[in-house]
Order: sequence, then structure tokens, then C-alpha cells
Amino acid sequence: MSVKITLPPISYTGWGALSHLLGEVERFNAKKILVITDPFLKDIGITNKVVDPLKEAGYTTEIYTDVVPEPPLAIGEKLVAYTRDNEFDLVIGIGGGSALDLSKLAGVIASQEGKVADYLNLTGTKKVTTKGIPTILIPTTSGTGSEVTNISVLSLETTKDVITHDYLLADVAIVDPALTISLPPKVTAATGVDALTHAVESYISKNASPVSDALALQAIRLISNSIRQAVSNGEDKQARTDMSYGSYLAGLAFFNAGVAGVHALAYPLGGQFHIAHGDSNAVLLPYVMGYIRPSCEKQMKDIYNAMGFSSVNLSQKEASYKCVAELKRLVEDVNIPSTLKGFNITEDALDNLTTAALEQKRILARSPMQLLKEDIYTIYKAAFDGV
Ligand code: NAD
Repeated sequence: MSVKITLPPISYTGWGALSHLLGEVERFNAKKILVITDPFLKDIGITNKVVDPLKEAGYTTEIYTDVVPEPPLAIGEKLVAYTRDNEFDLVIGIGGGSALDLSKLAGVIASQEGKVADYLNLTGTKKVTTKGIPTILIPTTSGTGSEVTNISVLSLETTKDVITHDYLLADVAIVDPALTISLPPKVTAATGVDALTHAVESYISKNASPVSDALALQAIRLISNSIRQAVSNGEDKQARTDMSYGSYLAGLAFFNAGVAGVHALAYPLGGQFHIAHGDSNAVLLPYVMGYIRPSCEKQMKDIYNAMGFSSVNLSQKEASYKCVAELKRLVEDVNIPSTLKGFNITEDALDNLTTAALEQKRILARSPMQLLKEDIYTIYKAAFDGV
């Protein structure tokens, strides 16, 4: 079987990578730059690390801060209307996945006809046809990998949906761990487990290849090794650097292999209960992996090894059970609730969650074990009860 591998054109990674911004901006000959960020990042001065050097170099910049976590469709529609009303020739997104995903809409969807809703995967009817405005993406969380994927995620009433097209891939990604030092422990934990989930799901995906496997395993190594330290001591440069590379590699892995059951079940938690994306993935990760374990014992043994454990005297089956237990322990160690009850979800919500998860057919299709309605309900129930 042959596979398509897509890699983003240019990335700068590692401590101090932001110093390459001006050189890249020059290439685009930009007259008016739209900087998309969230209001908190502007308040704490992170946005200025991008805007100040641009202003000093004589560029005209406009800062757009109408960004909220897990952005709903309406926020995307508003940004696209604003972008169309102004003549920008470069978009720079700086922030977590929420700001970066919206930046992709300003960069690409604003240059298409119609509304953002027309381009959604589940219900849209239009296809992206033109490349749009050049885009530079600069993550300030170590989680989503949005800077290297062709995906923009939006929150709907009952679930989440995506717009995907290769034109949504940023022209330049700048991944500087120094920008993540200010992340509080709770966000470090949620975004870090999000990145881990991307890597784990890519590795067990039906669309995995040797290329995505290599990316996923190294992401699992880095994140498993450093997430506890990044959460307990956010100023640890090495831990932040590992998390930054881990989320970047995991982004490349899942962009090429896709995510599966954890994400399909997590999207309704985001849509219906507004639980942060990383937390939604984290609470479900051990339960989905525990349920599908018989379909991917070999991969789970590899994941267990990449998490830093030896399986020398273990069968594949034994190692796969231990892998599930270690994933659960990791989630608990970084203080994320390990049951749906911990997020104040009541049992009567499980039916609606199941119905919404079933809509994510494209994502579910990548699971190594087919997940039907009763399977999905059973997993939600296990995550509810914590067993
Ligand atoms: P986020 O962008 O929603 O940010 C979470 C919070 O962290 C915000 O309050 C923000 O102000 C704060 N924050 C961000 N950087 C900070 C910093 N350096 N210091 C202090 N505070 C900081 O969180 P996220 O998890 O990065 O993004 C979530 C969104 O990304 C969701 O909508 C999710 O569905 C989407 N997502 C997209 C992709 C993709 O490939 N496009 C993949 C996974 C998830």
C-alpha cells in the first residue's frame, strides 16, 4: 500500500527559534500584517514578542484578539468577515491551537467564497480552491501541533468539526519553547496529554506508515519523559524543549496518519460540555486504549517501550495491559481528572455523547478496532465509572 506524506515547507524549532521571524516576513514582501492572538497572551506580553520587532522594522500590523479557547463557528465567521473587509497580505498566528486554527481561516477561508460553515467536513458543501494569504504560525502551547497540520477545528453545539485542505498548511512554523514558559501547570498538562494522544493514536491508526511511526514514537519518548517535570516546574528549559519538540513531532505524525477513537469520543465532550480539548482527550485516552487493546497489542508494546519501560520478559498482551495502566498513571500524575464524573458529567449525558461520537465516521474509520454504537457507549460508561 502506498501512502501520501505531507510535510510543511519550513519550520524553525528549538530555543530562540522566534529570532527567525523577521527574515521570513521579509520573504513575503508584506505591506499590512494581520496578527491573530488571544487577549490573555496580549496582556502578558507574549504577542509583543512578535509585534514589537515587526513595528521596529517598519511593518504595518493589526492585532486581532477576538479569540476564545475552543473557538465556536461564530468566532470564525466574524474573523473571516473582518479579514475580507481589510487588505492584509500576511497572517501571523501566535497562541495555542485556538488562535492558530482561526489564523488558518483568515489565511485561507477568507479568500474563498461563502461562509466558514460551507467548508466544514461534516455538513459543508464547498471545497477550498485557492491558496489565500501566506501564513506564519507560532504556537505558545505544546499540544495541538496545529502549526504543522492542514486542519482547523471549530466547536459546534453537540460536537466539533474540522476544515481540512493542504492550503491550510502554514507557509512557516516557528516552534520556540521559550514561548511556553508562562503556561500554567493545568494547561501544560492538558496540552501535553493532547500531544501524547496525537502520537499514540497515529501509531495505532490504520493509516500509519513507517514515516508516521518514527515521528510518533519519538514524540511519545519526549513527552513521557518530560511532561511531569514541565507540569511541576514550568521554568525547566529542557522539559519545555522536549514538550515543544514532542508536540511538533506528534503534529506531523497525526497529520500524516490521522487520529482515531479517542478524538472521535473527545469532540462531543468539547462541543456539549466545553471541556478543553486536551482534557477531553486525556480523560478518555486510557479507556479507549483499554477497550481497543486486543486489536493493537504489538503497537501498544512499542508505545510502552517508548514511554521508557522495558518489556523484555513480557508477552505482547502483558505489555499492552501495562501500557494502558501507565497511560492512566500519567494522566493522574499530571492532575487531570481520570473519570467523566470528575468533569461533572452525569450518566444521563452518555446517550447524547454516543450519538455525537458516531457522527465522526472519518475519524472512527482509522481505529484498528471497529467501534459501533454499543462499543462507544461502553467506553463512555467505563470512563464515567472509572473502571
Ligand atoms: P488554547 O489555544 O485554547 O489555549 C488555552 C489557554 O492557554 C488559553 O486561555 C490561552 O490564553 C492560554 N495560553 C496559551 N499559551 C499560553 C502561554 N504561553 N502562557 C500562558 N497561557 C497561555 O489551547 P490549545 O490546547 O493549544 O488549543 C485548543 C484548540 O486547538 C481546540 O479548539 C482544539 O480542538 C484545537 N486543535 C487543533 C488541532 C489542529 O491540528 N489544528 C489539533 C488539536 C487540537
